Amino acid sequence: MIAPPPGIASLTQPEALARYATPERGAPGYTSRVLLPANAAEIAEVLRAARASHSALVLSAGRTGLVEAQRPAGETVLSLEKLNRILSIDAGAMRAEVEAAVPVDTLNAALEAHGLVWPMEMGSTSAATVGACVANGSAGANAVCYGTAAHLCETAWGLWADGSETGAQTGPQWFTPAPQVLAIDSAAPDVQQGLIGTQGVLGVITRLVLRLHRLPAQREAALIPVTDMPAAMRVLALARDVFGADVEEFEFISASAMALVRALKGEAFRWPFARDPQAPFYLLLQVKSDDAGEELAAHLYGFLTETLHQPDDALGYAPLKALKAIRHSITEASNHAMKALGGGRLAFDTATPVEVFGDYLAALEAALKQQHPQVQFIAFGHAGVGGAHLHLLGTREQPVQAHADALIKRVFDVTAAHRGTFSAEHGVGSKWGAAFAERTSPQVVAELVAAKRQRDPAHILNPRSFGLDQLVSRA
Ligand SMILES: Cc1cc2nc3c(=O)[nH]c(=O)nc-3n(C[C@H](O)[C@H](O)[C@H](O)COP(=O)(O)OP(=O)(O)OC[C@H]3O[C@@H](n4cnc5c(N)ncnc54)[C@H](O)[C@@H]3O)c2cc1C
Repeated sequence: MIAPPPGIASLTQPEALARYATPERGAPGYTSRVLLPANAAEIAEVLRAARASHSALVLSAGRTGLVEAQRPAGETVLSLEKLNRILSIDAGAMRAEVEAAVPVDTLNAALEAHGLVWPMEMGSTSAATVGACVANGSAGANAVCYGTAAHLCETAWGLWADGSETGAQTGPQWFTPAPQVLAIDSAAPDVQQGLIGTQGVLGVITRLVLRLHRLPAQREAALIPVTDMPAAMRVLALARDVFGADVEEFEFISASAMALVRALKGEAFRWPFARDPQAPFYLLLQVKSDDAGEELAAHLYGFLTETLHQPDDALGYAPLKALKAIRHSITEASNHAMKALGGGRLAFDTATPVEVFGDYLAALEAALKQQHPQVQFIAFGHAGVGGAHLHLLGTREQPVQAHADALIKRVFDVTAAHRGTFSAEHGVGSKWGAAFAERTSPQVVAELVAAKRQRDPAHILNPRSFGLDQLVSRA
């Protein structure tokens, strides 16, 4: 355990430590000290002291990460929460300079007055921080339009884990990926990007210049029932033909996910359709326009009726907020169902190339039904970039943990057979360390291990993430 360098705030009282030890998902961890440096110079001091004393650190920002990266297992927690200033907003250049631990919503509240947005749409943005999003390459529901947080970063500055300065690091540009290409893959970090996308195992991002976008003049959305996911992907191709880069979101919701939302909302649930379409899947298509004079609603209506030939009673047209409320209720609905069923949950965040995404989901559901018919399969997510959030729910009689290894293997095998990744945007953390060693290409693993040795020679920063504690000692 590191002794705090003089002048750096630290917490040791058990009641103050508890919130730093508890990840968003997974078992609580434990720590006996949290360090709260106030700026980059103090972080550098902490890193140098940790290196000198071979004391491990776990990074903590908004603590919304889903892969247990921020969960300490006895390490000192290095909290970035004091790096929370918006340094400048340049509306003309559409850039904002910020410290790393500014929450996404805080930044966007400041940008709204300028008609600008840093477009990361996630359920966690009230707490999730910009630096963590860039470090993790996080991807929101609108990644199909704007790319990941890494693409929304022009420059990041920070410290390597040995305490030395990284200099300026440039975020990649976003191009709409070809359908045969895997668009998002946080299981294959590119060490050439430095701290961007390498999820805090090489160093700490302290400051960033972010690429901003104009707030659209208009947005419209529709819920579209489809017979299967291959059909859904044909809708995506048609939407791209008609709306081009103005397809802002293209999400999917399985009937099982929709049923959970209906159960959660009860009487308050409103279908946006004249009749219940009883479809196996629903798409949430959101389009935008920068032209306030465009008849966007009529344009979308024309797409639904003339391009997709949807009958009037299957037109899922409702205010955007109402449709979004359905999409954003799925996780809460899944939490309720998990508690009621009492058999636990396995959660996955996979992705495949868009061209095989529909076939992938169909194959995965069939494989799980055949091998584990007792498991409830909930699927939803970012179909526009081939991303799927998968929740497998057990029952008290048949808990998922009893078959966890077999279920994880099945999901990951089917994903790999469709050229997919076991972690689209949530990262690897300590949760998927074993999968990283087994399933990521040996070249990517070797490059990360080599970079870890170079940038973190004492192996002090997030030492268990990616299973690097095992991989580095094995190499
Ligand atoms: C309800 C909910 C919805 C979510 N939806 C999405 C989603 O749609 N898409 C998505 O991608 N994620 C999603 N997430 C996951 C999460 O919000 C992201 O992973 C986010 O990047 C974590 O930010 P944080 O500030 O909470 O980081 P923390 O959880 O505090 O940190 C996690 C790890 O990130 C790294 N890290 C943090 N800050 C830095 C830094 N400055 N420099 C280097 N490394 C750093 C460290 O390894 C750290 O251990 C969701 C989470 C929740 C709870």
